[in-house]
Amino acid sequence: MRVDETMIEKLVEQLTLEEKIGMIHGAGLFRTGGVERLGIPSLFMSDGPMGVRSEFLDGKWEAACTTEDYVTYLPSNSALASTWNRELAYESGKVLGCEARGRGKDIILAPGINIKRSPLCGRNFEYMSEDPYLTAQMAVPFVKGVQENDVAACVKHFAANSQETERLWVDTRVDERTLQEIYYPAFFEAVEEGECYSVMGAYNKLNGEHCCHGRHLLGRVLRRDWQYDGLVVCDWGGIHDTKEAAQAPIDIEMSVDNNFDEYNFARPLLEAVKKNEIDESDIDAKIRNILRLMFRLKIIGAEAENRKPGTYNTASHRDTVYQTAKESIILLKNNENRLPIQKKGLKKLGVIGLNAEKVHALGGGSAEIKALYEISPLLGLHMELGGNTQIVYAKGYKEPIEAEIGDTNWQESSLDRQETENATSMELAGTRRKAKLSEDRERQLEIERKALLEEAVAVARNCEEVIFVGGLNHDYDVEGLDRENMKLPYRQDELIQALLEANPNTIVVIYAGSPVDMTKWADKAKAILWSYYAGMEGGRALAEIIFGEANPSGKLAETFVKSEKDTFPYKLGEFAKEEIVTYKDGVFVGYRYYDKVKVEPMFCFGHGLSYTEFSYNNLLIQVEETNMPTVLVAVDVTNVGEREGAEAVQLYVHPKKSSLERPDQELRGFQKVLLEPGEKQKITFQLDMKAFSYYEEEKNAFYIEAGEYLLRVGASSRDIRLESKVIFEKSYIVENS
Ligand code: BGC
Repeated sequence: MRVDETMIEKLVEQLTLEEKIGMIHGAGLFRTGGVERLGIPSLFMSDGPMGVRSEFLDGKWEAACTTEDYVTYLPSNSALASTWNRELAYESGKVLGCEARGRGKDIILAPGINIKRSPLCGRNFEYMSEDPYLTAQMAVPFVKGVQENDVAACVKHFAANSQETERLWVDTRVDERTLQEIYYPAFFEAVEEGECYSVMGAYNKLNGEHCCHGRHLLGRVLRRDWQYDGLVVCDWGGIHDTKEAAQAPIDIEMSVDNNFDEYNFARPLLEAVKKNEIDESDIDAKIRNILRLMFRLKIIGAEAENRKPGTYNTASHRDTVYQTAKESIILLKNNENRLPIQKKGLKKLGVIGLNAEKVHALGGGSAEIKALYEISPLLGLHMELGGNTQIVYAKGYKEPIEAEIGDTNWQESSLDRQETENATSMELAGTRRKAKLSEDRERQLEIERKALLEEAVAVARNCEEVIFVGGLNHDYDVEGLDRENMKLPYRQDELIQALLEANPNTIVVIYAGSPVDMTKWADKAKAILWSYYAGMEGGRALAEIIFGEANPSGKLAETFVKSEKDTFPYKLGEFAKEEIVTYKDGVFVGYRYYDKVKVEPMFCFGHGLSYTEFSYNNLLIQVEETNMPTVLVAVDVTNVGEREGAEAVQLYVHPKKSSLERPDQELRGFQKVLLEPGEKQKITFQLDMKAFSYYEEEKNAFYIEAGEYLLRVGASSRDIRLESKVIFEKSYIVENS
């Protein structure tokens, strides 16, 4: 959005150096300083992707403890991406923006759009996908939805932030091609297409430079190549050097300490400017970006009267959240049409597993949400079945140490180095995970476990239908800590096996933020349903899918491998290292790697079943010849089953030959379509030349080699139904901006 730059210049001229300094650093944990005499207010920010975070006292990590900050709890970004529905991404963005504005915020620190490089990254639940195209396609409408409410989205964490181990210090080494093809595209599209008003620099270093003051990343890539004139804020505490950061194109320093005057961009910077070590014009550049944001958001200027007020906790917000939850749930397996369950005549339902009753909103790190409510799976099942069915619930397993509410917020000490196991209170979750229990406690726990297992098995034997709901929680899907492996905690494997033995019809529901190892029981289970942290309506959506009120249509936005040992970063030993992590896997991230080495995943990228079937016919390809051709693809998709259902139709491009090693296929299009039984629809895709390209480092451009390309259309990356080819007689170059 264009802003009258003369207005900005007028304000810059009137500001004193001290006033400027006040505007570029935190004056509270989530706000900057304003300049009252010129009518420039503070900028108010809040996390995060799953709703607007609860209120803290201005300068302390202490909950304000009001009843005014209960909010709509949205499905996590991983859930949203699994819908493969751009419209829902837009609607979800609108909800988040409207709620943020309603809570008086200017910037909402979301969405998280880092690429899932390893299934073990602690923050994967906050991120969308292993695929840059899918991430970009969901991020753009999300950003637009947020910003329609006169609130800035803030895409984070720029860039290549794919592990939590030593997150402030780890140096991520990534070659340019990999950055351009895998780790940049979602950010590029978010600022280019989505016109995102703000970007958050990541904690990690990238190729030796801190992302929050990297000249290359922020200066050359973001500002020069992408021509970005929006705001850049550092991740909280991500600036380590006053001079370097002052001279880099980063505008605001935020952190977790409350000694605001000692921030790099506070007194140290003021003194450095006074001593002529740093030029005041460097500060002016930051002020311009801040003021431009303020004009864009109608915080100041002639349009201020018309700024949208926003609102929160509306019925329509809850409806969007519910629709999103419903479309995010993935039916991974459904042998013998085990699902849906008939509820008519069902007298006794067994529900087993702690995640059936657990609520998750208040965990995970900065994505924590003080939800207005959260419908657990168990509550959802009760709501769905009503009074005619008896639900017998058994916990089945237990967490050895319950979550405690500490005196301090984890974030307060989240920047302390994690040198020893108990170094930081941020690792409350980690402490619980790693805690060494006394022998006595272990023995007692063993007895408790046995009793829980026996009780669960008895329930499984005595009920007509049995649903297990287990998985992970925010002790595992958590900011600041990667998982060590993909194993289900709390001996759930043992329990699931016992349940399947007692009742082979047991339905397995996994509620988690990142993939888990299912090898011990997946072949025995007839039906497996997957839900990410699906927001306040998650339990209702799940129950409706189980009983067939709703037809599942979620598809995996990431590959579910059998074990972490199948992943490339793990094999290379290049994940969760403390000092340097070299992305030797290059562009072979996720399915790009499993396709290359022919690893059989547990469930492949793009996979997700429905209660109906779809057929694919008549793939047609047409090339519109101009100096930069466009490829038009059309395919007929028909619902050949007996009930209404939605299908995410996927389009992959496979280069027949290439002078440099490329992924076997890459997602370049998808459309989600809702069809009545028997209904047919023509689905069309329009591919620009970038869809056929790879990044050519020497040319600093995307390059399309002459030759043959296969276009594959299907229901998942490994369920290709039709393919056809296109031939380019000559090569093309797409400039990188
Ligand atoms: C997280 C960010 C978050 C910020 C503010 C940091 O710890 O990495 O994602 O937005 O805190 O809470």
